[in-house]
Amino acid sequence: MCADYTNPETILLHTGHRGDPTTGSVAVPIHQTTSFQFKNTEHAENLFALKELGNIYTRIMNPTNDVLEQRVAAMEGGVAAVALASGQAASMFSVMNLCRVGDNFVSSTNIYGGTWNLFANTLKDFGVECRFVDPADPDGFAEATDEKTRCYYAETLPNPKLNVFPIKEVADIGRKLGVPLIMDNTAAPLLCRPFDHGAAVVMYSTTKWLGGHGTSIGGILVDGGNFDWEAGGDRFPSLNHPDPSYHGAIWTEAVKPLGPIAYILRARVILLRDIGAATTPTNAFNVIQGLETLPLRMKEHCANAIKVVDYLKSHEKVETVIHPSVQSGELRRRADAYLKDGYGGLVGFELKGGKKAGMKFIDTLKMFFHVANIGDARSLAIHPASTTHSQLSPEELIQSGATPGYVRLSIGIEHIDDIIADLDQALSAA
Ligand code: PLP
Repeated sequence: MCADYTNPETILLHTGHRGDPTTGSVAVPIHQTTSFQFKNTEHAENLFALKELGNIYTRIMNPTNDVLEQRVAAMEGGVAAVALASGQAASMFSVMNLCRVGDNFVSSTNIYGGTWNLFANTLKDFGVECRFVDPADPDGFAEATDEKTRCYYAETLPNPKLNVFPIKEVADIGRKLGVPLIMDNTAAPLLCRPFDHGAAVVMYSTTKWLGGHGTSIGGILVDGGNFDWEAGGDRFPSLNHPDPSYHGAIWTEAVKPLGPIAYILRARVILLRDIGAATTPTNAFNVIQGLETLPLRMKEHCANAIKVVDYLKSHEKVETVIHPSVQSGELRRRADAYLKDGYGGLVGFELKGGKKAGMKFIDTLKMFFHVANIGDARSLAIHPASTTHSQLSPEELIQSGATPGYVRLSIGIEHIDDIIADLDQALSAA
């Protein structure tokens, strides 16, 4: 199904659904049901034994979720996907599908704070060590790798610094050492396809641009089908050793008639089965609605963001503007190598007046929403030093990029004149 179309504009409207077989419904139906009637006991037995793939129970699969999964997998050029309850669940699943107690993985330091906490604290408490590496030097990933390293993890376009990750450089290191790269592509849908640069797994918080309307928390994990888990030997016991929780199945063997989906099949039949972080069919439907206009929205987000950057660059109260389009040197090379048709909808800027000015600016905005979110069709703003990053020390604030006068904007798709007018009146008060 994933290969029906190659252009994302068409994939996101058509892949995986061509009229409901019983009603003819053109819109994807919301299959709001917990369970699915088996045809008979043989059918039920075959489904549980994975001899036949089909619907059993919505914690593990659902036809509405399935359309979302097929569309995002096709958009990314992957082989299959699993929709999840949140981006956090997707990050957790992406790593826990490979790691056990005593294992480690290597993550970029430039990641979302919630992911940082999950990796540095919660997973540590579960006996899995995250080794953080500054992506300024990709070789750091090789240096942090040993025989217990199960994967690398990074974000394509991480805020607040908006320094694009060196995907190919680190994927190449990983492929040489037999370690897969997992990319959080939340802020760069359509602008970047990490599988094209050697990543093995992609995840999204669908809460952001994919859903695009600020209605539904969700996440998704996509398998590139391009990593040889079998050749990895003892590095990937969860995939290529017998699984005692599924009558000794070896996932790399079990998927042979189905294609290279060992990683994503295990995420579904083991992690979703046991952890249960399933998304609801209604939320999957909401994300499907968002996907239908994602290509149009991304163009607008990117075009408006560039105009905002141009406006902020010449404003007397602005010290610096943070956006890939104004970077230079190696950072700009990476931005141009990995992003196409735009640099994304996030814009940061540093106010000369520091924290006080940052807070005043936010309090004076009229149209921008002051929220801890990104990727809505509406324009959003936040002052990290007084909110999301307020627990950090002054040194940590500088290290994270969330300096006292830093403001993060997620530029929406309103008319650019209204966006600039709101920024202008708020800056005059800051
Ligand atoms: N990844 C990135 C880049 C994010 O910005 C976020 C949330 O802000 C997440 C993951 C977590 O996603 P969610 O809030 O859907 O759990």
